[in-house]
Amino acid sequence: MKEKMMNVIDSPAKETDTANPLEEFQETLKEAISFLNYPDEVFSFLKNPMRFLEVNIPVQMDNGKIQVFKGYRAQHNDATGPTKGGIRFHPDVTPEEVKALAGWMSIKCGVTNLPYGGAKGGIICDPRLMSMNELQRLSRGYVRAISQIVGPTKDIPAPDMYTNSQIMAWMLDEYDHIREFDSPGFITGKPLVLGGSEGRETATSKGVLYNLQMISELKKLPLEGMKVIIQGFGNVGSFLAEYLYHLGIKVVGVSDALGALYDPDGLDIPRLMETRDSFGVVSQYSGKPITNQELFQKECDVLIPAAIGGVITKENAEQLKCKIIIEAANGPTTKEAIKILNKRGIFIVPDILANSGGVVVSYFEWCQNNQGYYWSDKLIDQRLQEKMEESFHEVLQIAEAYGVDMKIAAYIKGVKKIAEASRLRGWINF
Ligand code: GLU
Repeated sequence: MKEKMMNVIDSPAKETDTANPLEEFQETLKEAISFLNYPDEVFSFLKNPMRFLEVNIPVQMDNGKIQVFKGYRAQHNDATGPTKGGIRFHPDVTPEEVKALAGWMSIKCGVTNLPYGGAKGGIICDPRLMSMNELQRLSRGYVRAISQIVGPTKDIPAPDMYTNSQIMAWMLDEYDHIREFDSPGFITGKPLVLGGSEGRETATSKGVLYNLQMISELKKLPLEGMKVIIQGFGNVGSFLAEYLYHLGIKVVGVSDALGALYDPDGLDIPRLMETRDSFGVVSQYSGKPITNQELFQKECDVLIPAAIGGVITKENAEQLKCKIIIEAANGPTTKEAIKILNKRGIFIVPDILANSGGVVVSYFEWCQNNQGYYWSDKLIDQRLQEKMEESFHEVLQIAEAYGVDMKIAAYIKGVKKIAEASRLRGWINF
């Protein structure tokens, strides 16, 4: 790592990734659509993004040489409003993954009833090996490359894996230069002084926390004495661990890309917060690290994967020793694994519900930018909690009405809105 990035960002902990995320998205979509009795054309239309752009970004590296990076932006569906979704910087980014993540964002915005469709962007790069100057040039180059298809009323980016508020600030600045006017609503997850929102940085973790509180009530599993394992100690995982610790919940395990820490009596989270680096690595600095896979096999009440996709697979699903999984990451559990976990009676709060706090507060940020009037921390938190509770209970009701799991129920809710809007616009018939 040449220079540390300023904020902590999501840390990947890739160990297995057998599934193709686009196929996973399409299969789940198909299943949800079958419950709605929509004709095949609805699936044919929604299985792929409406628009997909591939760009090549030349960046001058610190050694004077030009390196060309590949980037993508997928816009899944804009029938309900502009599209919305983060940009990830990661060496494993693929076109399929970006397309799937854009589809997931459409469903997520439908589930939380936001006036957006879904989008996602990605650049194949390893920010851990790049300097701040190189990252700045790459961020600006990406905005120049996609500027024609994004904008405050077209498609609004945000942070995702390995991107943060500083990167959003550079991207905003580049966009403002291209358009020649100030447009804070172009991007969310910005620093506060550039029109960011109170509570955005912690929004995903807060949203996961509200889901945990609802599930504890639903399953009559008291928060006091509850044992939780969090896989991933980036932005989402670390803030979440802190919230849980201060609520008296025992965080017995945490992990990062290099290893994991486990203590059945509960880890000292404030100490880990001090020792972690800007990429969420903590396991190497204290205690005796175990592997991510070993951590998955430890006993806990709630397991929260909060890093990358495809980590709970058919290979390890039988070995998990938890009662509940809350998917804080996008797509951490493969379809095959979900089948096994459903059979084992392990309750899963799906990603599109559990981690939607981020996009919900991004929406609040965009509203504030459009109004030019900024809300208090308290108001943001209250509105976020309302949204999370409303979405959770609506999805739960659908799950009960259709006799399906929470993931399919969330898809049913999410797809209904996009399909209906697409029908009313005359794009599809049913
Ligand atoms: N990247 C986040 C997500 O996957 C946030 C997206 C946003 O705020 O637009 O939900």
